[in-house]
Amino acid sequence: MQEIDSPAAMRAYVASARCQAKSIGFVATMGYLHRGHLALIEAAKQENTIVVLSIFVNPTQFGAGEDFDRYPRDSDRDRALARDSGVSVLFMPSTHGLYPNGSGGQRVWVDAGTLTHHLEGAWRPGHFLGVATVVTKLFNIVQPDRAYFGQKDAQQARVVTQLVRDLAFPIEVKIQPTARDDDGLALSSRNIYLTPEERKQASGLARALACARTLLSDGERDAQSIEQAMRCVLVEVAPLATIEYVGVADWESMHPVTGPIARDALIAVAARFRSTRLIDNEIVRFVDGAPQYGWQTPSTSELQGKGIRA
Ligand code: AMP
Repeated sequence: MQEIDSPAAMRAYVASARCQAKSIGFVATMGYLHRGHLALIEAAKQENTIVVLSIFVNPTQFGAGEDFDRYPRDSDRDRALARDSGVSVLFMPSTHGLYPNGSGGQRVWVDAGTLTHHLEGAWRPGHFLGVATVVTKLFNIVQPDRAYFGQKDAQQARVVTQLVRDLAFPIEVKIQPTARDDDGLALSSRNIYLTPEERKQASGLARALACARTLLSDGERDAQSIEQAMRCVLVEVAPLATIEYVGVADWESMHPVTGPIARDALIAVAARFRSTRLIDNEIVRFVDGAPQYGWQTPSTSELQGKGIRA
């Protein structure tokens, strides 16, 4: 495994790989790697000759009072995990490398507009400006053929798929299922902050989503009824949690759904245990009127014409 920390060296590596007609799979993370990240790496390995893993705790996606300073970091552990999982290049840029004028000196931002006005975007003002901007920088530096993101951060995945379309990146975005612990809790670098009692109750987010799936399978379509039932589950299973939001958004527009869910939708939940913020979601699609769950990879014909390399 090669370690690279400067954007210029990363570009030089990519240029040389391109000359050898190698395909590049890219996984962008903030480190403190867990099984969810490793699943993205594994998917990237299956489909590309080279896998680039970036680790960068991006300051611009954290708001004032959020956990940028105490976000878990362990580069030795991450390095060993990356090597063991077959990463070709570990790209660990410095803040100066990605923000040469400091994050305060960044003048141009990538704004995904109305895709970011609800759910996470509403609760974390400026978050998606930071995400979309750093992903754009990373895409320009790494120039991957395919980029792998987790459904765990579904609104982020939605923003990135649109960013690739609207800014004409020749990149195929692949969304991988959320990796979970046995009790359903979505894996997250932040889970280490939970006390044992909070950890037990944290499965409440996944149980609220399971309740939504049950209701949908039973024929319920009203978004507000589903949200209400999810809140009841959370209050019962996770009394220590403060619910930030439970919401249903149209997948394409990310606007809140009021009334019946008729099209692909994101059902999302965020809750805090003291200052530890957890999020989880389900994507629901309707096939012949029946609900199906999870991200659906676009068909080959949808990808044709986008300049994606086989
Ligand atoms: P992070 O390091 O938390 O910024 O996440 C980096 C990438 O890993 C993002 O695409 C996340 O959506 C993805 N990811 C994080 N947690 C999980 C998980 N539990 N399952 C699948 N993907 C995940």
